[in-house]
Amino acid sequence: MTSDAASALPDPTAEVVDLCRDLLRIDTTNTGDNDTSVGERRAAEYVAEKLAEVGVESVLHESAPGRANVVARIPGTDPSRGALLVHGHLDVVPADADEWSVGPFSGELRDGYLWGRGAIDMKDFDAMVLAVVRHWQRTGVRPPRDIVLAYTADEEAGSDYGARFLVDNHRGLFDGCTEAIGEVGGFSYSVNDNQRLYLIETAEKGIDWLRLHAKGRPGHGSMMHDDNAVTALAEAVARIGRHRFPVVVTDTVRAFLTEVSDLLGIELDPDDPETAIAKLGPIANIIGATIRNTANPTRLSAGYKDNVIPGRATATIDCRSLPGQSELLERQLRELVGPDIAIEYVQRQPALETTFDGDLVEAMSAALRAEDPGARPVPYMLSGGTDAKAFSQLGIRCFGFAPLRLPADLNFSALFHGIDERVPVDGLQFGVRVLDRFLRTC
Ligand SMILES: [Zn+2]
Repeated sequence: MTSDAASALPDPTAEVVDLCRDLLRIDTTNTGDNDTSVGERRAAEYVAEKLAEVGVESVLHESAPGRANVVARIPGTDPSRGALLVHGHLDVVPADADEWSVGPFSGELRDGYLWGRGAIDMKDFDAMVLAVVRHWQRTGVRPPRDIVLAYTADEEAGSDYGARFLVDNHRGLFDGCTEAIGEVGGFSYSVNDNQRLYLIETAEKGIDWLRLHAKGRPGHGSMMHDDNAVTALAEAVARIGRHRFPVVVTDTVRAFLTEVSDLLGIELDPDDPETAIAKLGPIANIIGATIRNTANPTRLSAGYKDNVIPGRATATIDCRSLPGQSELLERQLRELVGPDIAIEYVQRQPALETTFDGDLVEAMSAALRAEDPGARPVPYMLSGGTDAKAFSQLGIRCFGFAPLRLPADLNFSALFHGIDERVPVDGLQFGVRVLDRFLRTC
């Protein structure tokens, strides 16, 4: 193709803005309930159409009416190599329009940002990947290895209708996939004008959601009563809620803290990582949760009348375990609640941890440095969970790498599921350039 023809093609860094905006305008609210969740099918069809326009065939897999996933495979030049899975979810958490400065599904462009629910979680990455693939298809670029694209439903409510559905029912789609990249990694954290950390997710905590059940003797609220289920439950919930689990520094967190303390000139005491973490500013919230198991009470339920002592009471506790600590956490919780409270797991998904090394990590780091000479890639552990939990069940080594260069003063972690979620347009364009380089060399 002549350079004239090439220059007439849409620039992927311009196109990503339109693609992201279109996706933001499709309301894909996931309420956790099939009857009230919306838009995933429309978003999946949009992605399939944008892929089809440039000759990429995709398959749409619906797990329940409206809950749609799209998967496509882009053949690489070396079929003997393992494939790379690139995954992004299309659903978003609900947004209350009254709390926002703009319509949460307006996709408004204002002050250099694209605004909308999903702007950083994670329609930004969904759009970046589309922009890169469309550009490649138009210009005849082929990746070195197969790339499997998966756009999923239901990540925000446990992935049952999305990644877990695909893994359980269509695992053949991921044949040959050895590594994966997805959300919550690759974003920058400014140290100073010349240096930025890029946090690459190499580990995530496990999900251990449990329900406590207390039983007692039902009775009349006006009488003496020494076997009250509400009292027993309340005591157990308070003990858990106030408990601080011991600090355990995993390899990932140690690598992160070592690099960061070196860069920031913070003294790191291995016996007291919390002092160093407290100096990290806005990301202290994320990192602080990755040095211990956590257990936060989130729901209570008991009783049906003001003057009746109920025979049962239940509470939900959102626990998150460090890699390899789920069983230990269960024992710790049993000890805290005592023998009379029953524990039932409502969700249990394993923690993940991989090493920060190898060719793929090199390719990520090189792509970041090429676009930002001040980039310092570091591994980190996410305190939450992603679709990586499902894909790792297939033996795939998963990373969080959705590259984004952010302004120094933006409180990025507060935007996740937050009010006025927005993504800087230049950050989005930076992400396209990094991804383009990375995927050509992965
Ligand atoms: Zn997400």
